[in-house]
Amino acid sequence: MEQELRELYQQVILDHNKAPRNFRKIEDASNFAEGYNPLCGDNVTVYMKIDKNNIIQDISFQGSGCAISKASASLMTSMLKGKTVEEAEKLFNNFHDLVTDKLGDKPDMENLGKLAVFAGVREFPARVKCASLAWHTMLSALHNKNEKVVTE
Ligand code: ZN
Repeated sequence: MEQELRELYQQVILDHNKAPRNFRKIEDASNFAEGYNPLCGDNVTVYMKIDKNNIIQDISFQGSGCAISKASASLMTSMLKGKTVEEAEKLFNNFHDLVTDKLGDKPDMENLGKLAVFAGVREFPARVKCASLAWHTMLSALHNKNEKVVTE
């Protein structure tokens, strides 16, 4: 295993990769989207059930990929269940700022909670795509775009 990867594999990521939360299909999903990261070969489908008050009643994912992509999807679904669409969009922006480390865009660490474990990926551009794939796919599902999300 590459040294850089070893440093990224923190306990939370390992745990979520080994026992991913919400790893299933929602048969009666109101929203869903597919994502693919050709750089690493990560595949993810995000399913959501959004009610008429714009609350995410249920969210899940399926797919295959590296530990980072899987752990990211697992953590994301755990955090977004019960949130509003607006809150999910805000968290997407926070997460994006965290992993891309954009100058002048300080991520809201309090809002990010456990997602802070992904801060380490910002030094590895290829891994940023693994960590953010599920998030881009979730955003696409929110807007019910019927196009496959492909990183880059
Ligand atoms: Zn990956």
